[in-house]
Amino acid sequence: MQENLNGKLLIITAPSGAGKTSITKYLMKLFPQLAFSVSAATRAPRAHETNGVDYHFLSTEDFQQKIQNNEFIEWEMVYEGKYYGTLKSELQRIWQNNQVPVLDIDVKGAIHVQQQFPRQTLALFIEPPSIEELKKRLVRRGTETEESLQARINKAAYEISFSHSFDEVIVNDDLSRACAEAEVFVRRFLEA
Ligand code: 5GP
Repeated sequence: MQENLNGKLLIITAPSGAGKTSITKYLMKLFPQLAFSVSAATRAPRAHETNGVDYHFLSTEDFQQKIQNNEFIEWEMVYEGKYYGTLKSELQRIWQNNQVPVLDIDVKGAIHVQQQFPRQTLALFIEPPSIEELKKRLVRRGTETEESLQARINKAAYEISFSHSFDEVIVNDDLSRACAEAEVFVRRFLEA
């Protein structure tokens, strides 16, 4: 089938720890039409992360300069003092390559992008089975301090209340089933 990828955007959003990174990786492996949109961020890189691959890690000053220059499609202070944003240049680069950008972004950012590109966006919301389970996953991941863990849990409860704003909600109580569900939605979107 001839695909029309022109200007399409795939957003995968969820509270942190809901498993959206695993689902994103699964989809990226499966569909060569997809390309990860590398966000800019001011938090410190984690041990396994590479600058320019996972994020464009910027200083707060550089990030604020890019806000001034209107270089972002959207940006948020996702956590206290930490900026994250989607660069216009990143989407342009991917579209010029005739691919579909995949945005792994927070709920507020996802709503902003949807509003700007209403007709060409598929937005998937990945819902954790429960706040309790989410907490367990974040503890297991071991990347959080007690304080940042609590901040992420509080934010998650708030974000789940926006799940109805998105095209599809996928409950991630079983990763392989959630991946299979996402695959069906994405295939339909790419072929439309
Ligand atoms: P983490 O620090 O765990 O990598 O990401 C924290 C949160 O920020 C995640 O929910 C992630 O999806 C979100 N995020 C990553 N990049 C962006 C972005 O460009 N814009 C927005 N609004 N959120 C982002």
